[in-house]
Amino acid sequence: MIKYQLVCCQDHEFEAWFRCSNTFDVQSAIHQIECPHCGSVDVSKSVMAPKIARAKERASENDISWPTDVAATEAEITEVIRRFRADVEARSEYVGTKFSEEARNMHFEDKPKRNIWGEATVEEVRDLIEDEIEFVPIPRLPEDSD
Ligand SMILES: [Zn+2]
Repeated sequence: MIKYQLVCCQDHEFEAWFRCSNTFDVQSAIHQIECPHCGSVDVSKSVMAPKIARAKERASENDISWPTDVAATEAEITEVIRRFRADVEARSEYVGTKFSEEARNMHFEDKPKRNIWGEATVEEVRDLIEDEIEFVPIPRLPEDSD
């Protein structure tokens, strides 16, 4: 059995089970698959992964989120981190060692929110977590020096 995410000509999404991948092609070709919402037989496989679609819906212009690519090898993971960091650096203000202070100010003083990045000590990171201040750790890259 195989489960497909399907979409009709009116953008209704639904899921259906088929015996094998060919069954869908055959049944849809002879118009045996009906949209449960509107009865349309013009049905195709949904190309959007539901998870990615939802993430995109929520993301606003200023949101920086992890790339959704699936990385397998170490080189690929490094590349994903590198792109993520380039995105962060391009779209947020570098505040250096004041990161924790700035993040705290935005959280507690109701200062206008903006994207910042910088450095924090282990203690600062622990305090941010304890105070439930949101941040995203950026992993080090091989070329980073201490
Ligand atoms: Zn429909």
